[in-house]
Amino acid sequence: MRTAFLYTDDYFAYDYGAGHPLKIERLRLTHDLCRACGLFQLPQADRIETRPATEAELLRFHTPAYLEALQRAGRGETRWNFAHGLGPGDNPVFPGLWEWSLLHAGASLQCARLVLEGKARIAFNIAGGLHHARADRASGFCYVNDPVLAILELVGRGKRVLYLDIDAHHGDGVQWAFYEDPRVLTLSFHQDGHTLFPGTGSLAETGQGEGKGYCANVPMLPGTDDHVFWKGFQAVVPPLMEAFRPDVVVSQLGVDTFLTDPLAELELTTNGFTRAVQYLADKAPAWVALGGGGYNPANVARAWTLAWAIMNRVDLDDEMPEEMRAPLAAQGARGTRLRDDEHTSPARDACLRQMRRCVGYLEEHVFPAIF
Ligand SMILES: [Zn+2]
Repeated sequence: MRTAFLYTDDYFAYDYGAGHPLKIERLRLTHDLCRACGLFQLPQADRIETRPATEAELLRFHTPAYLEALQRAGRGETRWNFAHGLGPGDNPVFPGLWEWSLLHAGASLQCARLVLEGKARIAFNIAGGLHHARADRASGFCYVNDPVLAILELVGRGKRVLYLDIDAHHGDGVQWAFYEDPRVLTLSFHQDGHTLFPGTGSLAETGQGEGKGYCANVPMLPGTDDHVFWKGFQAVVPPLMEAFRPDVVVSQLGVDTFLTDPLAELELTTNGFTRAVQYLADKAPAWVALGGGGYNPANVARAWTLAWAIMNRVDLDDEMPEEMRAPLAAQGARGTRLRDDEHTSPARDACLRQMRRCVGYLEEHVFPAIF
């Protein structure tokens, strides 16, 4: 079966600003590392040019007033809009903000259509996964919610969707969009909201109305490492996959969970991350894979290159290609290997107790609704 990687150099016309942690350049680093590893020269893999979404497509989720505000901000007519979450800080106004939003959303919609049309079993949009945006408000570096738009495209064609979010931050925008909808099961692993933005994603959030039981959260303690994450993943994801039987998995593959990420306090490495990716590559009937957080650009490039290799069943050499060593070192890489060493958190025992509590809660409150 085929795979697709969405990309365009047009991403680099836009910039959140010098002091902002979200660096669009991390996408170029990822693309270039994939290319240097030979991952665009595989017989089954298509590298597809991103096409922007249309305003009409964004209106399937976002409000007209908010989209108008984004366009005005992108043209430089306003620098602040408190009602819609725009202004200096997390969601700055920058030139081309509107066009950037159309691009990363367009790529996620293309992924959904490639999968729907059977042209790809796996489609990967590294520019996507902006999971915090709300219908009428920017939030957490996210202006337009491309995961929601991709899921709406899929459910509009009668598909059942499992949304799996492994970013360090709770996937709140996607959760609330489908909170009462049993066609979409949302499952988010994230750092506990008591200690990290956006503060939500508690165990007690399990859906509402017809969607009761179709929402699951795994709030992890700071210090959670690969071993603890993978214990929880194995206890929760396979049973939910088997009971819910999604037609398509949409995943947000944020890597701000890593030990060396500057924004969050989880302690994952490429080892835990790639286990989750391998599981989805093996088990998802069809898979729309999206990027997400990740504020050490070298981590992003290494992790998503390893992910794209797994999606294509390629076992990469562990040494970085020679020509990528200097660019990766300049963007935060330590050493010359693609994979991290195994890491044991000093807080492992407490993190494991919290993980067991999460699994027990979900077994009691979420599994029965779906089984
Ligand atoms: Zn994040």
